[in-house]
Amino acid sequence: MVDLKSQYLKIKSDVDWAIQNCLENSNFINGPQVKDLEEQLRRHYNSSYVISCANGTDALQLALMALNMEKGDEVIVPAFTYIAAAEVIGLLKLKPVIVDVDPDTFNINAAITANGLSSKTKAIIPVHLFGQCAEMIGILELARKEGLKIIEDSAQSIGAKYTLSEGQVKFAGTMGNVGTTSFFPSKNLGCYGDGGAMFTQDENLATTLRMLANHGQSKKYFHEIIGVNSRLDTLQAAILLEKIKHIDQYNESRRAVARFYDENLDDIQDIAIPFRNPKSTHVFNQYTIKVPASLRDKLKEYLQIRDIPSMIYYPLPLHKQNAFSKISKVIGDLPNSHMLCNTVLSLPMHTEMEESQLSYIVDNIKDFFKSC
Ligand SMILES: *Cc1c(COP(=O)(O)O)cnc(C)c1O
Repeated sequence: MVDLKSQYLKIKSDVDWAIQNCLENSNFINGPQVKDLEEQLRRHYNSSYVISCANGTDALQLALMALNMEKGDEVIVPAFTYIAAAEVIGLLKLKPVIVDVDPDTFNINAAITANGLSSKTKAIIPVHLFGQCAEMIGILELARKEGLKIIEDSAQSIGAKYTLSEGQVKFAGTMGNVGTTSFFPSKNLGCYGDGGAMFTQDENLATTLRMLANHGQSKKYFHEIIGVNSRLDTLQAAILLEKIKHIDQYNESRRAVARFYDENLDDIQDIAIPFRNPKSTHVFNQYTIKVPASLRDKLKEYLQIRDIPSMIYYPLPLHKQNAFSKISKVIGDLPNSHMLCNTVLSLPMHTEMEESQLSYIVDNIKDFFKSC
C-alpha cells in the first residue's frame, strides 16, 4: 500500500546526516529540532501556534483535556472512521455520540452533526477522512450557534485546503479550536516512528496544550495541572524537518496517482471513484473507491492473488466496536456508515508509484470487472 523505503532512499543522505547530527549532539528530548519543526509547521500551514506531541491519538486527548471537558460531557464523532477520536473521548470518561457520515465525502456535515445535539453536547470532532476536509462552513456555523468546541482530526489530511464562505482559504486543522495531526509513517507527512502535533489560533489554549503535553509543567518541576508525558522525539523532529521540505511535492505525487486511477477507473460501471468536494483540496492519504458489496471482497481477493495489495478502511463502524458498546450514544441506524464499511476499498497510494505499477493495477481491476 505504501513504499516508505523508496521514498527514504531518495532523501537518504539528508536524513542520514540529520540523524547522525542528533546522535552527535545527544539532545534526545526537546532538542532544538523540535522547536524548528514546530516553526516550520506553523509557517507551512499558516497557524498561529503549533505544539508537537508523541502521536496523533495523544494530540486528540490533549485537545480534549485543554478544552476543559467534564465527566459525562458529550462529544460528537463520525461512525465511519479510525478509532482514535472516540477512544480518547472514552478514556477521559466523556461520552462519544456517534453520528452517520455523508456517503459521498465519507465525512460528517452540519445536518448530520445536528442530529446528535443534546443539552450535554460540548464538542464536535470532524475527522477529515482520507485527505479531504469535512464540510467546515456548516460545522463551524453550528458550533458557533450552539456554543460548541471543534477539534479537527487532520491526521489524514495535513495540507488539504478548504475555502470558507468569505473566500478565505485555510488548511485542515486550523479552522477549529484545536486541530490535530499524526506523523505515523504512512501519513502524508510521516516520520520513522510515532509523532503528532496540535494546531491552534488561541494563545491561551496553546499555553495549556504545551503544559499538558509536558506533565502540566509551567517550568521544570513546577506543575500547574495534571498533564501527561507526550513529546515528539528530537530524532523524529529532525527526520520531519527533512521531509517537510518535500511535502508539497509528495502531495502532488499523490494527486497524480489519483488522476491516473480516476481516468482509468471512472468508466467502470461498478466503481465509484472518490468524490471531490469543490470546497476542499484533496491530499489523498487514501484513494478509496466504492464497489457493490457483493463484489468488494472478491475484487480484493482477485487483486491479492496478483500481488496487488488493497485495504478496507474501515470494516466495522464505531458503534459496532465492542469497546464502545456500553459508553456511547448512537444516533439512528447509521445506514451510510454500514454501507461504506461493506463497499469501500482503498488502493495502493504513495509518493513513489511508477506508471508500470499503476497500469498493472488498473489493468487487473478492469479484467476483474470484465470477468464478472
Ligand atoms: C492515524 C490516525 C490517528 C492517530 O494517529 P497516531 O499517530 O497513530 O496516534 C487519528 N485519527 C486518524 C483519522 C488517523 O488516521
